[in-house]
Amino acid sequence: MADCLFCRIARKEILSEIIYEDDRVLAFLDIEPLAPGHALVVPKIHVYGLLELPDGEVEPLFLGVKLVMKKIQQALKPDAFTVGINNGRVSGQAVDHLHVHVIPRFAGDGGGSLHALVHNPPQESLSEIKDKLWKLEARD
Ligand code: 5GP
Ligand code: ZN
Repeated sequence: MADCLFCRIARKEILSEIIYEDDRVLAFLDIEPLAPGHALVVPKIHVYGLLELPDGEVEPLFLGVKLVMKKIQQALKPDAFTVGINNGRVSGQAVDHLHVHVIPRFAGDGGGSLHALVHNPPQESLSEIKDKLWKLEARD
């Protein structure tokens, strides 16, 4: 996508602090880091979110996430990581190119867990929701 910010970063048209690259994946430091080493891992192909990512690109992307975590672990010695995707506008996605946030966590950093993101318990029972999901075929 010609105008997409992260496509342009992947093509090196826009400068970024690159920390990992292979033929499928690029990882660079977030320009407004939530923590030291906050990185974004993106597929080189343009897709909006994880649902649009071809199945064959999933493994390279998440291998990239793991390799970035290994580098950060060695260099910055965090105590933990929060890894996540804002997938869709309502969840907070601002850049329309899939990106996995790798956020190093340090004891006493004052941050919360994923459980702090939303509190919207279902009206239906877990069993009713399971019945809707289990019968569906997810593979292409
Ligand atoms: P989102 O809310 O879409 O999950 O997060 C987008 C992330 O991209 C934000 O954390 C933001 O700081 C980062 N970001 C936005 N523009 C740029 C940029 O030009 N360069 C870099 N390195 N990060 C960016
Ligand atoms: Zn893009």
